[in-house]
Amino acid sequence: MTKCRYLPWQYKSRLNCQNYKPSNLSLFNLSLITQSPYLCTMSFFKKAKPFIIAGPCSAETREQIMITAEALSAMGVHLYRAGVWKPRTRPGSFEGNGAKALEWLSEAKSMYNIPFTVEVAEPAHIELALKHNADVLWIGARTTVNPFQVQHLADALKGVSIPVMVKNPVNADVDLWQGAIERFEVSGTREVAAIHRGFSGYSSAAGYRNQPNWPIPIELKRRRPELTMICDPSHITGNRNRIAEIAQKAMDMHFDGLMIETHPDPDAAWTDAAQQVTPAALMLIIHNLIVREEFTQDMSSLVQLEYIRQLMDSLDAEIIDLVAKRMELSEKMGIVKRECNLTAFQPGRWREIVDRIGERAEKHHLPKEFIVELYEKIHHESIRRQLAVLEQDDKVLNGDR
Ligand code: PEP
Ligand code: MN
Repeated sequence: MTKCRYLPWQYKSRLNCQNYKPSNLSLFNLSLITQSPYLCTMSFFKKAKPFIIAGPCSAETREQIMITAEALSAMGVHLYRAGVWKPRTRPGSFEGNGAKALEWLSEAKSMYNIPFTVEVAEPAHIELALKHNADVLWIGARTTVNPFQVQHLADALKGVSIPVMVKNPVNADVDLWQGAIERFEVSGTREVAAIHRGFSGYSSAAGYRNQPNWPIPIELKRRRPELTMICDPSHITGNRNRIAEIAQKAMDMHFDGLMIETHPDPDAAWTDAAQQVTPAALMLIIHNLIVREEFTQDMSSLVQLEYIRQLMDSLDAEIIDLVAKRMELSEKMGIVKRECNLTAFQPGRWREIVDRIGERAEKHHLPKEFIVELYEKIHHESIRRQLAVLEQDDKVLNGDR
């Protein structure tokens, strides 16, 4: 286990992280960011661990792009990100500055020697991004979900040598994610990386914007051990105060890099304001990261044990989050039952549940009795909550007993 070596100590001491101003910094030369990535033989993403991608959610103004680029380049960020076409959930929101923003990024690249990446969702975006010398392209979560669109993009990249990063699809489907990666590989893209940005859920009960669902990226890595894995804690948490925690977790899971949304004035950001951090905060997050050793054959048993424990802890967290969501549903069910004047416990429904979970347990070679016993406890708590709704007992619902 080593402390992150990414930022030099002396550098941090020169910088007052609380009062960051780009002009406080003197640039130091990182050869890796001065050359065009696809001209060198070394893998673009494997030049440093953790590989750091940072930059604003959206390219808003020329000034914002230049100020951020200066700060990030000075601290040795490996790749500058900014959205120039923004996939917004609802119409009428800011949808990006398009080609104009590419000009700013290209100017920042030559001024501060920092390669850049943008999200592309249409072949026309690829054409413009290449024209403006983008160094890496990324595919957003809402695009990865659509194999037709991914194929159009992969076709548009035939014969072009540029690394591509594929964000996970919004839904927790490892095959869809792997399939999108393969479409680029089949089209001839030599360097593809996966970005884990979490998965949409119907609620944010666990306090995440997008549920991390760690077993999905772990499964992708199991299937494709050589694949570069990058974690995007900004979109997972949706909350700048939790980015350090998720970034560390990603390091503990042997991710290769991080993508962290960074803005000179996060609260004033036009998109994703709550999850962006200042360059100074980014530096602190990176500096405090503990980067663990590689998981290799000759790894000591103790380190292996620690690694497996990390995986287990994160699965436990997921299990509790899911149980919490299930309890939320129980309370909603309680309300409906109260309105329809139905009993909380319905034996027919419980028999159905037992049959279904029993079948699923057998599929996973788990003893049916063990799963049913576990479910009896969950079901019992669910009924208790429904009764509390029927009886309007706030103490139970608030967890006071
Ligand atoms: C983004 O990175 O700004 C973005 C839109 O991400 P995602 O595709 O993960 O939602
Ligand atoms: Mn964003």
